[in-house]
Amino acid sequence: MLSTTIIDGKETSRKTLQSLAEDIEQLKRQGHTPGLAVVLVGEDPASRVYVNSKVKACEELGIYSQKWTLPTETTQEDLVKLIRQLNADERIHGILVQSPPPRHIDEQAVILNIDPRKDVDGFHPVNVAKLVLEDPTGFVPCTPLGCMELLRSYGISPQGKHAVVIGRSMIVGKPMAHLLMSRQANATVTIAHSRTADLPALCRTADILVAAVGRPGLVTADFIKPGAVVLDVGINRVEDPTRPRGYRIVGDVDYGSVQPLCSAITPVPGGVGPMTIAMLMSNTVKACKLACGM
Ligand code: NDP
Repeated sequence: MLSTTIIDGKETSRKTLQSLAEDIEQLKRQGHTPGLAVVLVGEDPASRVYVNSKVKACEELGIYSQKWTLPTETTQEDLVKLIRQLNADERIHGILVQSPPPRHIDEQAVILNIDPRKDVDGFHPVNVAKLVLEDPTGFVPCTPLGCMELLRSYGISPQGKHAVVIGRSMIVGKPMAHLLMSRQANATVTIAHSRTADLPALCRTADILVAAVGRPGLVTADFIKPGAVVLDVGINRVEDPTRPRGYRIVGDVDYGSVQPLCSAITPVPGGVGPMTIAMLMSNTVKACKLACGM
């Protein structure tokens, strides 16, 4: 039977943060402290958890942070006013507006107001264009960046491989596909989505399969070419009365049936998830360096 490498996102994230801490120390010695502003509008409990863990990561690394918690009824105008204030704040190199905002807020319009040089989420059209142009001064969304870092740190080269990305969101699927097809990674990429015909057959042609769908257990053994590398981006809550919270977190991959067929796989939790915050920290340090002309 094939032996499968379980890709450890926690450990990789720890190493990434450790090396960032050294970068930050050096920046501070030169008189520069990277700064991140995190903005949360509304009361969504999951968003609160995400925002708090981002701020905590900053504190642990020595990144200056500001947490802005605004009430649900905040107007678009007031939110944009705050973004402009943060754009002008020299202590702040990265600005992040936690998604999803309340319904009355036009998220895209808010993103357009973030200075692209501070858009550490990589959602501003300028940064989308820079990703497509392979301009290294741009910011790439943190989750696909984390997937690439996992491949790199496990010595998995995408070059010449067929990569199938399931999902075409601007946050994961599309940037993931661009990174894999870039001149640095050199994979041949296919993007699949909800209208793709015969998804299992397509996925069986993948040497690298990335699932970014949001459907628990969608990817089963019949999607897998033996020896494939599988990256599971999905974070899904499923009911589980045996757990104290009444639910557990699973990915888009049916781990039990898929894992024995792969050469490497990310578990959920503990795979792609922990890399996202590490890459946010990395993007913030990069924004600081660029702002200082480094
Ligand atoms: P979206 O809902 O924005 O996109 C999902 C994509 O999956 C869409 O392109 C959709 O197709 C496609 N899709 C839906 N159903 C199917 C299907 N049955 N077969 C094939 N494709 C399908 O989600 P996100 O990209 O934002 O997130 C995807 C998952 O990743 C979620 O579970 C999310 O929680 C998780 N996530 C994890 C992160 C992390 O830090 N690890 C960060 C961000 C997201 P179509 O375009 O046709 O609708």
